[in-house]
Amino acid sequence: MLLSWSAGSVLSENVEKVGRRIRELREERGWTQGELALFLGRTQTAVSYWEAGKRAPGLDDLVDLARVFAVPISDLIAQDAARSLPTLLRAVAEEVDSAQLGKDLERFVAKAAAMPSPQILWQINGAGARDTAEALLAAAAVTTAPVPVHALAEGCGVRVLSWDFADVDGLVVQLPEGAVIGVNENQYDRRQRFTVAHELGHHLLSHAESFHVDFGGELSPAATGEHPDYNWRNERAANDFAANLLMPAAVVRTEFTKTADVNELADLFDVSPAAMGFRLTNLRLR
Ligand SMILES: [Zn+2]
Repeated sequence: MLLSWSAGSVLSENVEKVGRRIRELREERGWTQGELALFLGRTQTAVSYWEAGKRAPGLDDLVDLARVFAVPISDLIAQDAARSLPTLLRAVAEEVDSAQLGKDLERFVAKAAAMPSPQILWQINGAGARDTAEALLAAAAVTTAPVPVHALAEGCGVRVLSWDFADVDGLVVQLPEGAVIGVNENQYDRRQRFTVAHELGHHLLSHAESFHVDFGGELSPAATGEHPDYNWRNERAANDFAANLLMPAAVVRTEFTKTADVNELADLFDVSPAAMGFRLTNLRLR
């Protein structure tokens, strides 16, 4: 699974607009470029380059700018906050050269935004993938298989929406009302469960500010080669989270005493035999 997008690459076309907005917000507050730089822990040169549209602030910078100015990040990216996410999504589609994907994503976001946000039952802040998965399982008091992954996502305030994507396995989008996971409804159920867990991992591990897309099919890294924005570390962490969430170590060990058959265990945990095989190897049970 697959591509990680930073706002930085998406922003490059709008770099002048972003620069103008930074200057505007700074001047409204009566700060010099040097003062703003000081608040951000950056150099005055960096600020002047941004404002002149010579360089785009990175995602970290945008997060800091939003904090220092006390505005939402969308306010820096576009004048019209309501339009900013679709704009970003369209830019993603342009980068992978797929107009169909742009339409898919826009429709998806419109539908997702209209869904009621689930109540947040658990605030999960784990250090790494495994700790975060175990913290969520503990908070939800899950001790048996199969793990109810959709309910766990909702309990974290994340809506899950199945969608007829062409070349997307799954994605997670941060909307003003909370995050939404999209999962390709054409995949096998067990693959969908793994994708939901994978995307929930990206969300809880804070891998992306606005959105993260895992491409499949013709746009998958296997088909297109590695994209420069591809972040193997985050993908591994999201997969690690998913394995730990869907196949909790303690529950696997208990069930393994009853049967060592990979297919039986896969059925019990409602995961693919391949995923279960990996898990047993990782837990050194085979
Ligand atoms: Zn991913």
